[in-house]
Amino acid sequence: MSGLRIPLEGPDGAGTEHALNLLAPNPSPMTLDGTNTWVVGLGEEVLVVDPGPDDEAHLARVAAHLRDRRVTAILLTHGHHDHSGGARAFAELTGAPVRALDPRHRLGDEGLGDGDVVGVGDLELRVLGTPGHSADSLCFWLPADRAVLTGDTVLGRGTTVIAPDGDLADYLRSLDRLRATAEQVGAEALLPGHGPVLPDPIGALDGYIAHRRRRLDQIRAAREGGAATPAEIVAIVYADVDRSLRPAAEMSVRAQLDYLGDA
Ligand SMILES: [Zn+2]
Repeated sequence: MSGLRIPLEGPDGAGTEHALNLLAPNPSPMTLDGTNTWVVGLGEEVLVVDPGPDDEAHLARVAAHLRDRRVTAILLTHGHHDHSGGARAFAELTGAPVRALDPRHRLGDEGLGDGDVVGVGDLELRVLGTPGHSADSLCFWLPADRAVLTGDTVLGRGTTVIAPDGDLADYLRSLDRLRATAEQVGAEALLPGHGPVLPDPIGALDGYIAHRRRRLDQIRAAREGGAATPAEIVAIVYADVDRSLRPAAEMSVRAQLDYLGDA
């Protein structure tokens, strides 16, 4: 691939030839270094994927980076607040519409969904419906850079959680689909919604799929051992997880119990 950028000091400024990450200043155990805001395109027109939280300084920084380049659309990988919270303010700043799968997050007439192709200059982004982390999760394939923008479906570090509006069966199908797509198109990078760029898409996706299967096995075993409630299962299966992440782990266990047909 041409132009893969992976800065040593963190995700800010990372990307590929036509996609640049401007990191939002909202780090936390759940958002890792913060939300990645992706600027796609090098010409006079660009797309902005996930403006991030409603943070005036961050949005101003993104706008300043663009100078007089025109934002033709703001795209959302999904509606979670750390990705979409700044969309309305950024739309006001740039005059661009907001396109998302969930109509509640749109501004303007155009939606966004599986199979859509969004052009900008000579580039195109192909939309992949990848529900699971949330019901409205999308990924964007950027053929010019052999890269996939993955939102929270695949993170640059650790693993993602199934949010209350997500579904584990959908998520496993989406991971399988992403893996098949990555293999078919020869993807060379994943550009996540949080954390660093992943230069080995197949390896990363295989790791995610194996991790999910392992956790499901562990949860089955914990239940066979007598653990009944999500909290009891978390205490066993996620014993090594930091206390601040326990609520996320419990959310994840609930999603897995749903999947196992025993919520
Ligand atoms: Zn999310």
